[in-house]
Amino acid sequence: MSGPAAHGLSLIDVYRARSRIRGLTVRTPLVPSAALSRRAGSPVHLKLENQQYTGSFKLRGALNALLALSPEERERGVVTVSTGNHGRAVAHACRMTGSRATVCMSRLVPANKVAAIEELEARIVICGDGQDDAQLEAERLRAEEGLTFIPPFDHPEVIAGQATAGLEIAEQLVEARQGRGATDQPLQILVPLSGGGLISGVALAIKSLDPNSRVVGVSMERGCAMYQCQQAGGYRPVEEQESLADSLGGGIGADNRYTFAMVRELVDEIQLVGEEQIAAAIVHAYLEERQVVEGAAAVGIAALLRGPTAGSDRETVVLVSGANIDMELHRRLVARASTPERELAAEGGD
Ligand SMILES: *Cc1c(COP(=O)(O)O)cnc(C)c1O
Repeated sequence: MSGPAAHGLSLIDVYRARSRIRGLTVRTPLVPSAALSRRAGSPVHLKLENQQYTGSFKLRGALNALLALSPEERERGVVTVSTGNHGRAVAHACRMTGSRATVCMSRLVPANKVAAIEELEARIVICGDGQDDAQLEAERLRAEEGLTFIPPFDHPEVIAGQATAGLEIAEQLVEARQGRGATDQPLQILVPLSGGGLISGVALAIKSLDPNSRVVGVSMERGCAMYQCQQAGGYRPVEEQESLADSLGGGIGADNRYTFAMVRELVDEIQLVGEEQIAAAIVHAYLEERQVVEGAAAVGIAALLRGPTAGSDRETVVLVSGANIDMELHRRLVARASTPERELAAEGGD
């Protein structure tokens, strides 16, 4: 990367974001995974954003965007559209900064996520069968009520906020390598991908510091909008489908201004994983890593469990993006995986 990029974001924006959100967010752990390192034959670390306040990295971008507003704008309140985690992050960030949140969501958003936002005393508007309907409603409320729109991914301050996770990874890798007396190795980072705010930010931070690192987006086979748009070379409407990775649902927006270009420029590869692979990765995270993770957060682990790919000889960081799975679903997935098939058959279960 040389010279200013078209998206106009630089490492300075990431440092500014970090100084804004420091104290209100957790510097989440970067931990080695013995099980995944053994399988991969090279060191694998997990960046545990499932341990972030509100249960996902989304708090970083939401807080940074909110703190970048004027006091008057915060006073009037903000509106957003969400598959759940961004709404929860905005609602929490509003409480921390004395603003008011309105969160528009489609009927596809799981009940546990809606309930968590309700608890934060945000105004909730449920509308339509997909993210696009919720988006229209958010735009209507913004115009009618003079609210400021805080988008879930396609916004420079949101991207810069998510990028602080990448900055931490770079620093924590230095510490981890010093700890085990290892020299620098080529790096790859696996990042869950939906609208692309997280991966754009993380890739910006990491590639600014280590231009030879490889950034891989991972998404679900069922309705991965960014992958399909990148393949087509521009915006395409993508049908939303139910998936274990519910936080990866939704389109990239017909008027996408930042993340489509940043993904094209900064992301080396996009991998897709299936529903059974996501389920197995949730179970792996629980039994082998002792982490509760939601489907969207498990896709990087799913990609690694599938076996070697182009970057497998590199030291690998898997960004584990969130924890907010319905715990009854989690319990079923773990029970199913732990029960021998003949017992399931005897129970008449699936
Ligand atoms: C939002 C979200 C993602 C995807 O982030 P984008 O910035 O939309 O690509 C991944 N994992 C979790 C848990 C999320 O909440």
